[in-house]
Amino acid sequence: MQDLPITQQPIAIASPLPRKSRQARVVWRNNVVTVGGDAPVRVQSMTNTDTVDAVETAIQVRQLAQAGSEMVRITVNTPEAAAAVPFIREQLDRMGEYVPLVGDFHYNGHRLLTEYPACAEALSKYRINPGNVGKGDKKDKQFGQMIEAAARYDKAVRIGVNWGSLDQELMARLMDENSRRTQPWDTRQVMFEALISSAVDSARLAESMGLNGDNIILSCKVSGVQDLISVYRALAQRCDYALHLGLTEAGMGTKGTVASAAALSVLLQEGIGDTIRVSLTPQPGEARTQEVVVASEILQALGLRIFVPSVTACPGCGRTTSTTFQELAKQIDDYLRGQMPLWRMKYPGVEAMKVAVMGCIVNGPGESKHANIGISLPGTGEAPAAPVYIDGEKALTLRGERIAEEFQALVENYVARTYGATAAAPA
Ligand code: SF4
Repeated sequence: MQDLPITQQPIAIASPLPRKSRQARVVWRNNVVTVGGDAPVRVQSMTNTDTVDAVETAIQVRQLAQAGSEMVRITVNTPEAAAAVPFIREQLDRMGEYVPLVGDFHYNGHRLLTEYPACAEALSKYRINPGNVGKGDKKDKQFGQMIEAAARYDKAVRIGVNWGSLDQELMARLMDENSRRTQPWDTRQVMFEALISSAVDSARLAESMGLNGDNIILSCKVSGVQDLISVYRALAQRCDYALHLGLTEAGMGTKGTVASAAALSVLLQEGIGDTIRVSLTPQPGEARTQEVVVASEILQALGLRIFVPSVTACPGCGRTTSTTFQELAKQIDDYLRGQMPLWRMKYPGVEAMKVAVMGCIVNGPGESKHANIGISLPGTGEAPAAPVYIDGEKALTLRGERIAEEFQALVENYVARTYGATAAAPA
């Protein structure tokens, strides 16, 4: 067959590659969160409360879960924290919040999981850092005690390596081996190898100790974007365990958000990663839930998941000098997010809704027509009227001081009409 001229070839449609990992299950009661295989990429987060304060911790876990976190990790660092874990679980169960809890263990996890069986039982997954389980002869024994607890209570385990707490004995051995190479590797490459070997060898050891390999999830976190991409590409080639992705110590605000999005997007597009966490340092006064919002937005932007209705808003320019449309876009975005815990149950499918809030006539009507419901606000010098488009058709025009409230009411009405029980009922 003759090749078509290049201009007549259909353009390939980009989409993330499918993932090929094994599937783990993270379970609490009837809430079974599958990780890996053909399961959706999961959002995870971590509390920053003192775990000993069971009430505060349960409240924050619930906030994170309601924001969309499908598993929440809590620090378990002392006997008091381990003793508090069953109470945190109980509080959440009483609130009807069955999000699985992940215990984060370092240094003394072997003792805590052995001496506090109620803690071991109440958690759904244990995070074990091979760099922090003990040194010398004690290392394998203490690691084994944690694996034994996971096998006994049938819990998933994340073997989570972090370059800030990399197994120094392993690193020293690999550096030594490297010095004997005729062409030694770059130190960074040796460090990458140490991260991956630590994770994969620990997982194999856990399997040899009796843990079901399907219950193992691996992570190798570093704080540089290109480093994370390098490490995870190699890790994904070297094993088929489910992988947890995250740029560790990503930082604050825009920097942390952009760096996490850049690193995670490249890997997710290549089919690498089964759970993600965005490790943002909260800015003063910022909610902890922001890390969940960013993680969800990354997955939604890539087309991997849909969590909340999206608001399309233009950036504004010299054609609209008022802040009205910025305020309306923010108001609608906040309103949609605020409604989602209720709407998710009441209006199935609402998360796929698109709302447009545009600043002037140039792209306003066109973009609004592409949305389920959209409004085109008047730019500078335009008549003070805001046409509203519903399902691609101009439906009405809003005027006056109460445009924001009236548009929000129209959105609410559209949601009830389109996604409510009566919408699907036969006529
Ligand atoms: S829609 Fe209008 S206000 Fe918004 S960026 Fe485009 S030209 Fe500017």
